Amino acid sequence: MARAAVLGRLTWRFGRVLAVRDETPTARTLVLDVPDWPGHLAGQHVDVRLTAEDGYQAQRSYSIASAPGGGRLELTVQRLDDGEVSPYLTQVLRPGDPLELRGPIGGWFVWHPGEASPVLLAAGGSGVVPLMAMVRTRLTSSSPTPMRLIYSTRGPDMALYSDELRSVAGRDPELRVDLVYTRQAVRADRLCRGRRRPARRSGPRSTADQD
Ligand SMILES: Cc1cc2nc3c(=O)[nH]c(=O)nc-3n(C[C@H](O)[C@H](O)[C@H](O)COP(=O)(O)OP(=O)(O)OC[C@H]3O[C@@H](n4cnc5c(N)ncnc54)[C@H](O)[C@@H]3O)c2cc1C
Repeated sequence: MARAAVLGRLTWRFGRVLAVRDETPTARTLVLDVPDWPGHLAGQHVDVRLTAEDGYQAQRSYSIASAPGGGRLELTVQRLDDGEVSPYLTQVLRPGDPLELRGPIGGWFVWHPGEASPVLLAAGGSGVVPLMAMVRTRLTSSSPTPMRLIYSTRGPDMALYSDELRSVAGRDPELRVDLVYTRQAVRADRLCRGRRRPARRSGPRSTADQD
C-alpha cells in the first residue's frame, strides 16, 4: 500500500496551466489543474520536467505554494535570466499549456494544521513559497496555532505575496508577519522592520540607514 503511494508520487503526469499571475517583476505564479492529483501537505514540492522537440529534457523542483485541497496547484517561480528552466516557466508558458510534473515530494519539511505548537517560519527570496503554503493552510483550516513569518527580500518590489500577507496578518492576531528588506527600507510599511546598516561618515543616507 505504502509502495503504491510512493510510486504514485513518482509517476509523471500532465497538468494544465489555468492561469498565470505575476507576483514581482521577476516571479510568476502558475495555477495548474492536475487531474488525479493525490493531494499534498504544506511544505512539499513537485518536480517539473520540460521536454524539447529533440527529446532533450530538463527537470527542476518547485515548492507548492497553495494549501492542500482539490486538484489545483500553485507554483511560484523566480526567474533566473541565465537559467535553463525558470525563464520558460515565467515567460513562455501560457494558460492552456500542458506541464509535466510529479509529486508531491518531501515528508520532513511539512506542517499539519492539527499541530498546536507555535510555528516560527523564516525565509529569504523564493524560499517563502513552501512557507506561504503553510500560512494558507493555517487559514483554510481555521487553525488557531500561532504562526510568525519573518521574510527577507532585497526590497519591497521583490517580496512575493506581500499584499496577501498584509491582508491576512491584519485580520489575525495569531499570525504575525515581518517583512525585512535588506537593501531598501520603507518606513511607511507597517510590516517592514528593515535592517540597520552602519552609519556612513559621508555621502547620502539610504532609507535603511534612517530606520
Ligand atoms: C526542493 C526545492 C524547491 C524549490 N522551490 C522553488 C520555488 O518554489 N521557486 C523557485 O523559483 N525555485 C525553487 N527551487 C529552485 C529551482 O528548482 C531551480 O533551481 C531554479 O528555478 C533555477 O532553475 P533554472 O533551470 O532556471 O536555472 P539553472 O539552469 O539550473 O541555473 C541556475 C544558476 O546556476 C548557474 N549555472 C548553471 N550551470 C552552471 C555551471 N555548469 N557552472 C556554473 N554555474 C552554472 C546558472 O547560470 C544560474 O545562475 C527549488 C529547488 C528545490 C531543490
